[in-house]
Formats: sequence, C-alpha cells, structure tokens
Amino acid sequence: MMTRVKTPAEIAAMREGGKMLATILQLLKQELQPGMSTKDLSLIAARELEKYGVESPFLGYQGFPDIICISVNDEVVHGIPRPDKIINDGDIVSLDFGIKHKGMITDAAISVIAGTAKQKRHVQLVQRTEQALTAGIMAVHNRVRAGDIAAAVQAELEHAKYGIVEDLVGHGVGHQLHEDPNIPNFGRPNTGPWLDKGMTIAIEPMATLGSERVYVAEDEWTVLTYDGSWAAHFEHSVLITEDGAEILTSL
Ligand code: MG
Repeated sequence: MMTRVKTPAEIAAMREGGKMLATILQLLKQELQPGMSTKDLSLIAARELEKYGVESPFLGYQGFPDIICISVNDEVVHGIPRPDKIINDGDIVSLDFGIKHKGMITDAAISVIAGTAKQKRHVQLVQRTEQALTAGIMAVHNRVRAGDIAAAVQAELEHAKYGIVEDLVGHGVGHQLHEDPNIPNFGRPNTGPWLDKGMTIAIEPMATLGSERVYVAEDEWTVLTYDGSWAAHFEHSVLITEDGAEILTSL
C-alpha cells in the first residue's frame, strides 16, 4: 500500500502516539543496565503500553512474536527479546519499537551503549548513525524524492566509512507499519518516487563497523552482520511539510 497524505486527525493521532513512543524509548534507555535480559526490557515496554492503553504494531506482524525488537552488538535489527539473552557491559543495544494509537502507527529506534563503552569506535558508531538519521531528515521537504533522502543518509555513513546495510530500508508509515515506498539508506539524488507534504515516512539508517553483508538467524527474524561487526540503528517517523519535516517520534 502506497503511503497516503494523512488527514489532520490522523496526523494528530501520530503526534500523540509518537510522543508516547519517544517517552517509552527514553525510559528503556534509562532502565537499561548490564545484567538485564532483553526480555526484561520488553516487559518494561509492555507495562508502559498498558499504562497508555495502546498497542504495539510489531506483535504478530508477519508472525513476529514480541512487542519490540531488541538487537545486540552484531545483531542489526529484528532481534526477538529472550530471557536468556543477557546484556553485557559495553554492548550496543538497539531498541526498535512502534505504537498503534487511534488506529495510526509510528515507528522509531535508538541504539544505546549499556554501561561503559568498551571501545571509542562503538560510541562513534552510535553517534554517527544518529547523525545520518538527522541528515536524512534534513533532506526532507515537499516533493522530495526517496533518492534525495537516501543519498543524504549514504553520504553521512560513507564519510564515516561504515558498512551500509542495503537489504533493510525505511518506509512509509501510518495506517500500516510498512507502507510504500521504500526509503533506502543509499541512493542517488533526483531518483525514486516523489513524496508529498502530509505523507508520513520512517527514515532508519543501519550501519556496521565492517561489511554491509547480513544474514538471518535460525529464529527466522534476527538480522546479523556476516562478519560479526557491531551495528547501530536509529529511526524516526516524520511528517513531510512544505519546507522540511516534523519529527513525530520525539519527546
Ligand atoms: Mg521501521
């Protein structure tokens, strides 16, 4: 389904849901400590969803078994929370979460270092992947093309000499978790579909300290780097405006 220009009421619902989403992600970041399991974090997220009276669009999406994706170190995305998956000091933990509120979906992700970083390059990977998200958002305006956003993200990640995961992409968002078109993290300006103001998209750079090659684990969900290098992932759902973008998944 191609993403549609949203009505003011739909946008208002996405603003409200996006704010809840950002609030919960910040809470998870604060609560995250070495020694916790990824399932512990999922249970905190579940408690918060209940408090707000909203749902996660991830649960049951193409059979995904949890409300949140939590991916650690060489896991890029789509990690399934597990009680036996213990977070260690210095791990890079990526939290990808969504909210469905008044029928509208928002999607966002952050990467966080648990405790104390083991290597400076881990800190840089997290910071610069977030910068790539900012670059992508800065490229947005009415009648932007998907390739314009992709090229802005790519330039930032290539400058840092990171692997850019090409198999996974951003997307339209709102009525469904994944709406067309794809918003890749690599591409050329002035290519790809045009996007109009009032449309809502998720921009989500994923970067690795090594190669861009990834594979899917035996659990059929978790996406890992082929070379074992560590990865980071940041995502915002944004509303396209006349001359820019409004971040819907911010506090
Ligand atoms: Mg997404």
